[in-house]
Amino acid sequence: MLSIMPGLKRALKIGALSGARLLGAFAIARFATRHHVRIMCYHAGTVGDESRYNPKLFCSAELIRERMQWLTRRGFNFVSLDQALNTLDAKAPLRKLQTAVTFDDGWFTTADKLVPALSGLGIPSTLYVTTEEYGRGWPVLGVTIRYALWKSGQQRLAISDNPAFAGEYDLASTSELNTLVDKVVAWIKQSATTRAEACACLESFATSVGVPGESLLLATRRFDFVTAEEMRDLQAQGCKVELHGHAHRYPLGDARGFQSDLQTCHSILTDAGLAGLAHYCYPGGSFDTIAEHVLARMGVRSATTCKPGLVTSATSRFYLPRFLDGGSVHQLEFEAEMSGVFHLLRGVLAWREWKLFGPSAQRPLWDADLGTASALGNSAGGSATADLWG
Ligand SMILES: [Zn+2]
Repeated sequence: MLSIMPGLKRALKIGALSGARLLGAFAIARFATRHHVRIMCYHAGTVGDESRYNPKLFCSAELIRERMQWLTRRGFNFVSLDQALNTLDAKAPLRKLQTAVTFDDGWFTTADKLVPALSGLGIPSTLYVTTEEYGRGWPVLGVTIRYALWKSGQQRLAISDNPAFAGEYDLASTSELNTLVDKVVAWIKQSATTRAEACACLESFATSVGVPGESLLLATRRFDFVTAEEMRDLQAQGCKVELHGHAHRYPLGDARGFQSDLQTCHSILTDAGLAGLAHYCYPGGSFDTIAEHVLARMGVRSATTCKPGLVTSATSRFYLPRFLDGGSVHQLEFEAEMSGVFHLLRGVLAWREWKLFGPSAQRPLWDADLGTASALGNSAGGSATADLWG
């Protein structure tokens, strides 16, 4: 009974959305929120079955093209992040249903598959690059290892052929899975000094869990990051490169650490020939109230989170909400989020809680089980996390 509950709940939600759309609620919400800005978030593109492994991290070019075509048909106006903020700051004329598209991390497949899909439709975008992985020039180890484990289809593993990570693991246990991944990452970092050696280690690990090494398709660079030249090419296609930190981890409560991380990211991207870096994206969506002071001091104009919602002129530029789209988001959920239906419902729920519990109600607006990003496990207290690598 319990196992069918999430499926049943989802089916009821989709049914309710279908009815609401039929009754015109989506069109009404779009009109009511036409002056709000939408910021969308995607990550990597796909070469093969990656979106079945992690549909929020990997999105096919076909899906993003379909989403953009739907938005175009409904009258959404695509703008750059700077154009959207200029409008909110009343420095540029207001256009209805303004939408900015952003990509996180700096995956090669973003540059190779997703940005060309947008450029072909004349849609500008932003790519937030995290520089530690970019600088390493290897496939992202943790993500590749987790993909191999997913591809093995096994729940329990007994590994004996490599003492660095030999043992028995219950992959349904997050802590055991993380332990295995950490051990394999440490082994590869110790064993490899070049990309070719790292790929050989990854293929060897895949083989040890029953997955043919060549099926990882590492030569396609599906788990790699862009190079400096590729980043510069992206800018020429209308995709502006921006800051995503160096370590891909926001240092909660550590202003000095945050500033240092940001400076490292900024100088690496500047050395790669990228100028005018002025926007930041919190890695994993984690943030705190220290961030805005550091960002303002460093001249950063905006920062995006992973909490769902729409942006108004009253929204803090350092905690901008974004809609994290992907293959696990039903078309009706996508339409509801982009039309502002969930945004309005979150407002109603927040108002009701405020009436019931008064100003002491601590539940953040985005915690309501309405938006698809809330399924990623938002935490209370001012952060909304979406660590898709782990
Ligand atoms: Zn990221």
